[in-house]
Amino acid sequence: MNNEQYYLLLKIWIAFAIILFPVLLSITAPYGRHSRKDWGPMIPNRLGWMIMELPSLVMFIVFFLAGPNPVYFVTLIFFLLYTIHYSNRAIIFPLRTRTSQKLMPLIIAVFAIFFNLVNGFINGYYFGTVSGGYDIEWLYDIRFIVGGLLFFMGMAINLKSDNVLLALRHSSRNGYSIPTGGLFKYISCPNFFGEILEWTGFAIMTWSPAALAFAVWTIVNLVPRALDHHRWYRGNFSDYPPERKAVIPFVI
Ligand code: NDP
Repeated sequence: MNNEQYYLLLKIWIAFAIILFPVLLSITAPYGRHSRKDWGPMIPNRLGWMIMELPSLVMFIVFFLAGPNPVYFVTLIFFLLYTIHYSNRAIIFPLRTRTSQKLMPLIIAVFAIFFNLVNGFINGYYFGTVSGGYDIEWLYDIRFIVGGLLFFMGMAINLKSDNVLLALRHSSRNGYSIPTGGLFKYISCPNFFGEILEWTGFAIMTWSPAALAFAVWTIVNLVPRALDHHRWYRGNFSDYPPERKAVIPFVI
């Protein structure tokens, strides 16, 4: 693939996300609390998470390392941030969920595998082949500093909020209860808010169009899901805090 084809693929990929956004706003993705049996064959939830997320990790590592670009100190940092996040998401997070009896439709896993194959490829290929490299001065660039701060803030919020939810599941025996503490005071889905901050920060710190595509896709995936979760909480708990928003504090 030459650079022209790569950039064309990126444009198509971002356009696809933008077209998909209103579709996702109008349907409820049937996994987790919204899981349904009328979306075809089902697979165990934990297995689903692992096979969905591993392609992103593998594709990123393969195309990062297989490309002709040398591994610069700065790209090594980007490599570590991406792979640490995905090692958690693909392996540690599914093992920590209490989801033994739960199922998800196979078709959801297939869609997610497709997303993760493309996302891992475009990001790994960018650093391994397309990028002109990053010299050490990039560490002092305002984009690296601001993006890095956003990334780590987002990662901390995402991990902490997922921890609160996993602990809640411990006490609610496969059921759901109202999460509290941290950013749950303001929004129903701080884990999604953290994830959005994380990849927006990554796009800024790498100044990479592939990471920008990833940030756009994260918003497109998670804002509709947060709105669905928020409606679900309100519909299922009469004492749900009325001032709480869905995913962006004080906004939506
Ligand atoms: P959820 O918030 O729906 O669930 C997270 C975990 O907590 C699940 O095990 C869930 O159980 C459990 N849980 C959630 N709410 C409660 C509650 N009120 N009481 C008890 N247990 C609860 O997140 P997702 O499963 O959708 O996503 C998991 C992670 O993956 C998140 O960090 C998210 O940011 C990330 N993600 C990223 C995407 C991207 O495009 N970058 C796309 C999708 C997810 P159960 O599954 O049984 O509902």
